[in-house]
Amino acid sequence: MIKEKLAEIRKEIPEHVTLIAVSKTKPISDLEEAYKSGQRHFGENKVQEMFEKHEQLPKDIQWHLIGHLQTNKVKYIAPFVHLVHSVDSLKLLKEIDKQAKKNNRIIDCLLQFHIAQEETKFGLSLMEAEALISCQDFKDLKNINIVGVMGMASFSDDVSLIKREFQELNSIFKRLQENYFSKNQNFKEISMGMSGDYALAIEEGSTMVRVGSSIFGGR
Ligand SMILES: *Cc1c(COP(=O)(O)O)cnc(C)c1O
Repeated sequence: MIKEKLAEIRKEIPEHVTLIAVSKTKPISDLEEAYKSGQRHFGENKVQEMFEKHEQLPKDIQWHLIGHLQTNKVKYIAPFVHLVHSVDSLKLLKEIDKQAKKNNRIIDCLLQFHIAQEETKFGLSLMEAEALISCQDFKDLKNINIVGVMGMASFSDDVSLIKREFQELNSIFKRLQENYFSKNQNFKEISMGMSGDYALAIEEGSTMVRVGSSIFGGR
């Protein structure tokens, strides 16, 4: 089942877009099935769960932390995390830098933006991000690498609303790339799109889609 779902989704996704299989709450056996059909990028939203799955599964899996990350938990994932999608403060970024250094690594991160209507979703505004990027403390961080932006659209049936939110994230990306990261070749990722809206997200410039229920079933 998982194998067939993955194959269907891969057919719809262009070469340059990374498919992240969001495996939160799903058992190891489901991840193994996806792994056997070639899936290597997995997304989790909880540190503890990602840590345990990483322990049990093959070490060539690339783990994406897509949920809110608490500063005191960074140390558990710093040895192996591939990409942190949910950076929304300088404090968090400093801690990731510190733990990356301890592990002799440079950890790739995305800045998470608040593009949805809902109040509850985490993320920066463009102004907050620009202030963060401009400060000296940020410039001093040597063990993190900002490789792009991430956002979640509103939970809604309104396609035109979702489309506008994806366009907003894309324009934030372009503005940051032009004004702050023009010399950084690695700043190229836009993580947007989930099971319900990944096709639309790709049309609007997504380079990473985070797909859970369409691969593994409902949670
Ligand atoms: C759960 C989750 C997803 C995947 O959602 P689906 O609708 O199951 O595809 C994507 N991104 C984030 C941040 C999530 O928490």
